[in-house]
Amino acid sequence: MNNNETETLDQQRLNILINSMSDAVITIDENFKIQLYNASALNLLDINNIKIGDEIINYLEIYNKKDELVDLKHIVRKHDRITTYENFSLKYIDNSKANLFLSISPIHSVYGKKNLSGYILIMRDITRNKSLEEERDEFISVVSHELRTPIAITEGAVSNAMAFTERSDDKTKILEFLDQAHKQVLYLSDLVNDLSTLSRAERGVLEIKSEEINVLQLLEELLKNYSSDARKKTLRIKVGKVDNKLILNSTQLYVREILQNFITNAIKYSNKGVIELGADKSEGGVLFSVSDQGIGISKSDQAKVFDKFFRSEDFRTRQSSGTGLGLYVTAKLAKLLGAKISLSSKLNQGSTFNIFVPDLGKEV
Ligand code: ADP
Repeated sequence: MNNNETETLDQQRLNILINSMSDAVITIDENFKIQLYNASALNLLDINNIKIGDEIINYLEIYNKKDELVDLKHIVRKHDRITTYENFSLKYIDNSKANLFLSISPIHSVYGKKNLSGYILIMRDITRNKSLEEERDEFISVVSHELRTPIAITEGAVSNAMAFTERSDDKTKILEFLDQAHKQVLYLSDLVNDLSTLSRAERGVLEIKSEEINVLQLLEELLKNYSSDARKKTLRIKVGKVDNKLILNSTQLYVREILQNFITNAIKYSNKGVIELGADKSEGGVLFSVSDQGIGISKSDQAKVFDKFFRSEDFRTRQSSGTGLGLYVTAKLAKLLGAKISLSSKLNQGSTFNIFVPDLGKEV
């Protein structure tokens, strides 16, 4: 093998290596003319071909956060060491944009800076990372906001109770403050529970298994668990006509958790009437329903009740505490089970939450 052959082999190896990279790579010379590019560069720029020797600015239009066109030549020339940017975006012909990770590496020859002979640009579409990051920031800020109010109320109530204990014997007043604090602590505990189920559901670590559920038995257990809560609000809770032989193969824990969320809401958002739990065989699974004759949900709110932290502005909703996470978590759990939720509701008349849970079949 002569020297030339060795060079071609090395060249081939290098080409294969660069073309296998998931990041877009473009090398340019000092005059910004393209010397080399890889397949990922074509993908990122969404074009079929790049002409070697063409100027990079014919292909790459990048914008800053203020949506101003960035002078690429200027920023490339500015640096004599590797520099990375994550705040630029790439604009496509149809005006759509992608958030861009851009790394600029000057190619130094062995003789140092003076013999600089070009630059390597490495790029990646980070639109999705960005939105995950933004979502996380938003989540943290909403959670801390949700935590702040109950903590402040608890703190106030407990210090009032302490002050009263020192100054007076008025036990009723002290109990009132303690009751206030107790309610907020219960709310905080609900919030933490919802957040922990949510995080498990989002990380996909919840285990889905198929087990035999006797549907009527499940509904009757739920009825038993919630009748005292319902009675406290003079509501009646009952199970409709359900076949006692109806069996569903799914994950009992999550089916139960979903129905519990519907039932606690039905109790919370009703001041009169009957809450009915129903279930019927449906093609490939079971259709459960929880209906109430409570405050109902307006058309515009119906579209939002499954959103993270959503609570209706209706003053009657605000009379009871809630995290706005219950239905969001419910929707996540339903997705894991392959279940479909539907809602029908009329303001001031009541709501029915339906969920079709598919039969997962017997576990083998
Ligand atoms: P919350 O902790 O506020 O109950 P959810 O996610 O369970 O949170 O519910 C979101 C919102 O949907 C509630 O705040 C309420 O406005 C509305 N909602 C849910 N279920 C009912 C219902 N059965 N009747 C009326 N409104 C409901």
